[in-house]
Amino acid sequence: MTQPIKIFKFGGASIKDAQAIRNVAEILQNHREEALLIVVSAMGKTTNGLEKIVQAHAQRNGQAYEHLEVVKNHHFAVMRELFPAEHDIFAQINDTFVEIEWSLEEDPHDNYDFMYDQIVSVGELASTKIVAAFLNSLDLKTHWLDARDVIRTDNLYREGWVLWDDTLSRAQQYALAPLEAGSFVLTQGFIGSTSENFTTTLGREGSDYSAAIFSYCLDAESMTIWKDVPGVLTADPRLFENVTKLDRITYKEAIEMTYYGAKVIHPKTIKPLQNKSIPLYVKSFIDPKGSGTYISTEVEDNYPPMIAVEQNQATLHISTRDFSFVAEHHLSELFQLMAEYRLQVNMMQNTAISFVVCVNDIDDRVARFSQRIQERFKVRIDRNLELITVRHYQEEMLANLRRRKIVLLEERLPKTVQLVLKNIPMMIRKEG
Ligand code: ADP
Ligand code: ASP
Ligand code: MG
Repeated sequence: MTQPIKIFKFGGASIKDAQAIRNVAEILQNHREEALLIVVSAMGKTTNGLEKIVQAHAQRNGQAYEHLEVVKNHHFAVMRELFPAEHDIFAQINDTFVEIEWSLEEDPHDNYDFMYDQIVSVGELASTKIVAAFLNSLDLKTHWLDARDVIRTDNLYREGWVLWDDTLSRAQQYALAPLEAGSFVLTQGFIGSTSENFTTTLGREGSDYSAAIFSYCLDAESMTIWKDVPGVLTADPRLFENVTKLDRITYKEAIEMTYYGAKVIHPKTIKPLQNKSIPLYVKSFIDPKGSGTYISTEVEDNYPPMIAVEQNQATLHISTRDFSFVAEHHLSELFQLMAEYRLQVNMMQNTAISFVVCVNDIDDRVARFSQRIQERFKVRIDRNLELITVRHYQEEMLANLRRRKIVLLEERLPKTVQLVLKNIPMMIRKEG
């Protein structure tokens, strides 16, 4: 490649309707001379809608087709605003959704996660076809690339692990020629495929990670993710007032915050970029001229306090049935099983008679894990908890966060405090 390659990623919010897609095209107009690979997620809340189809089909509750209609109708309404009636995108998108209809005609697959990936991936396939066709209609030459030809994963459905060597050579094989020829390359986030060509997904919100995979494999000069916020903020603006934008942060800081729940970037995104020192910009699609946040290796050690909140947490208090110490061989057995049940451990504490872990409470994993260890261990589970991670904390801020909450676990490191909190049940004073 003669020109440096840049990677852009547009998430669901940036393409949620026709107006939003026009805005994306406008941003891209300003980069028409660049070698751009663009990663796009499903439109708006499409993935949630597709998940409903999968659940309905698995439960055979007869509502799968209704949920499919809702998703399809939205896509067709958007297309009617963007394209003339005779455009062949209508037939293309119809064919894309037919894949789901075929799945629904069959019995639900025994492997729920497999079925999930085959159906849910359609969101990204549809959105990218629409956006690519729209860019081409504006004379922004765009090559649609099927990410499943590039991103190879193992067959852990719903959480595919990337097979890097294969993915790297495929990225170069499929993306370089169209970039060299002066087209944009536009592809899907979130999806990949196994060596048997079955579709896999990389985990919810995984499109940022897809963009990082392409950045790594194509030795990109930079990656930019376009969001509905001005950049990385000191906390989620949906949860906190008075947040401020961070102009520059290190990869390390970004990893710490995203791993513990700062939803602005998918946690797996940073590592591939850091490994090749590819800078990441987080910018606003609402204010594309704004400076955004610049994430790199450059050292910046004067950070304001930052807060990440991870909801849907559960703690498991595990002790041996005979009240002997929880010894190393117990821990080894427990960790083995936590890996098997894919429990993500966010915090842990080991005392003489119990071992406590705080994990993400996703689907029925906690229940299945505790069922499995019941015979050998006693388990007490606390649910509906919140994990708050504060970097560069100040004491008064911590006091504020603890207000009206019970602190179940607390851990302090020099720059980080983590609190697992439970709401104090509200007691309402009786009248009279
Ligand atoms: P996408 O459209 O790419 O899927 P998301 O909605 O997943 O984007 O992520 C953007 C959202 O992340 C923001 O609207 C904001 O509410 C939330 N968010 C959480 N923590 C932060 C943070 N520290 N800085 C900025 N945004 C944050
Ligand atoms: N569409 C997928 C999701 O909603 C992936 C992504 O948006 O990053 O989880
Ligand atoms: Mg998202």
